[in-house]
Amino acid sequence: MEGLLEEVKKFEPRIIELRRRVHQNPELAYHEVKTASLVANVLRSLGVEVTTGVGGTGVLGVLKGTGPGKVVALRADMDALPVEEMVNLPFKSKVKGVMHACGHDSHVSMLLGAAMLLAKRRRDLRGRVKFLFQPAEEHGGRGGAKPMIEDGVMEDPRVNYVFGLHISNRVPSGAFGLRGGAFMAAPDAFKITMIGRGGHGSAPHETVDPIFVAAQVIVALQGISSRMIDHVKPFVISVCSIHSGTKSNIIPDEAVLEGTIRTLDEVTRRKAVAKVRDVAQTVASALTDGMKVVEMDPILGGEDFSRFLQKAPGTFYYLGTLNKSKGCVYPNHSSKFKVDEDVLKYGSVSLANLALEFARR
Ligand SMILES: [Zn+2]
Ligand SMILES: [Zn+2]
Repeated sequence: MEGLLEEVKKFEPRIIELRRRVHQNPELAYHEVKTASLVANVLRSLGVEVTTGVGGTGVLGVLKGTGPGKVVALRADMDALPVEEMVNLPFKSKVKGVMHACGHDSHVSMLLGAAMLLAKRRRDLRGRVKFLFQPAEEHGGRGGAKPMIEDGVMEDPRVNYVFGLHISNRVPSGAFGLRGGAFMAAPDAFKITMIGRGGHGSAPHETVDPIFVAAQVIVALQGISSRMIDHVKPFVISVCSIHSGTKSNIIPDEAVLEGTIRTLDEVTRRKAVAKVRDVAQTVASALTDGMKVVEMDPILGGEDFSRFLQKAPGTFYYLGTLNKSKGCVYPNHSSKFKVDEDVLKYGSVSLANLALEFARR
């Protein structure tokens, strides 16, 4: 590790430059075309075997070591978010309404930095390293890990260990965040559509008012955490969007609620999803005749690194970038999210070190 910390100094300016280039040209989920081609070019220049168009816009790189050993996969996600950047940086996003607000630009550059270190250390490297540059991590539905796995990135040769790194403003700059067991929550998105019967705002008794029902459903959903889920099991439910109506005197026909459920174990997850469905339907039918609740879609999305972990053991860990003096204090997904670039080298070193250590096991 010490040796790598010394070596990475040479690559640091390049790592930062790459991060800025990606930051300035953010691309949304499944559209990571420029990012993927930049990644492919850098990998090729390092002598890494490259396959593009993996799982859509993903890139797979394979670096062969000099002796027999294990296959270690290192993953970075490449997509940006539909957020207007509110940070004034010389390398601010050039794409209106799109920003690397989750730090995936730094993930790309740190993994390329790890590739630079590993390519230089090829003599010491056993086995093989697979670099997985994944699209669409932020996409709630299919995500990008699944299509990459379907395209065979975890097979031939079979991956023995897989690691992923995420930058975070919850951890102090330069520190790593790790946890044994389940780390990230399973994020299930839900969408509840209440279909009533609209009418004039002055005569609600002649209507089936979906807004009134939606309000009761929101309150009742909070009862799931306090009354239906074991309190020692982590569980969060939040309604994050509510859409209905067009005018102050019209009771609309429908109301749509969307939100997220976070759980850490599969049993709680299944129970919570079922309870949300139950509560929405029970409240709606208790309050009105003629109210229909439809489209309760749990979607597994969010941090889909877990899909790789279903195929091989490994870990997902955080690298802190919380630094008050540099204004790196806003959380991931904020329009003011800012990365402390001085920590990028530690990310590259940690990834390279994991590959070197686990490949010789
Ligand atoms: Zn994110
Ligand atoms: Zn992220």
